[in-house]
Amino acid sequence: MAWFSALFGTKRETRRTAGKANGMTHLIAELHSGDEKARADAAVRLHEHPSDQAVEALGKALSDESQDVRDNAAESLRVMIVRGYRKIAPAPLIDALKREPRRVALRSCLRELGFEHKIEEVMQQQFRDAPKYTARCMPFGCPKCGMQITRVPSWPESGNSVPFYAQGDLGQSGAYHIEFVCPACKKQVFVVWDSDPR
Ligand SMILES: [Zn+2]
Repeated sequence: MAWFSALFGTKRETRRTAGKANGMTHLIAELHSGDEKARADAAVRLHEHPSDQAVEALGKALSDESQDVRDNAAESLRVMIVRGYRKIAPAPLIDALKREPRRVALRSCLRELGFEHKIEEVMQQQFRDAPKYTARCMPFGCPKCGMQITRVPSWPESGNSVPFYAQGDLGQSGAYHIEFVCPACKKQVFVVWDSDPR
């Protein structure tokens, strides 16, 4: 959804200010120092300029503080690759994947570029860093980053058969809960049950 609102929300505005002649230079400048909307829009539109400069700028944008900008930068790189532009160093993509292992566009980029094995390495690293995550659970998505979690530090015996919810905070908590740190995003995650899962 963020992708579409970023694209359609600011398209006309940028068309008005971006001159055709210096389109790419303008977009890179926007991506470096624009406000969030301008950066997100520049990240979308840079896929129209496959080149070293655009790839470098998009690579940096993969660590932008804004989720929209990061999403759009990954998607632009993916589009470039799919259209046949392959001069893309994998390092920024791999670093970004370490931070956001579930980001589909990053995975697609690496797969298309022939670095499928790097995706596996990153996933294994997530769990090497978390030696206490030994209890199997019914897989669920981290509420903070979306990574599929299949192991947790501990899991009640009937945890899978009693309905549970993964939440980013305790808020409207169920009667029973566990908490742990997501091995991917390192943020606190709560799994709650309304009935006793022990
Ligand atoms: Zn997470």
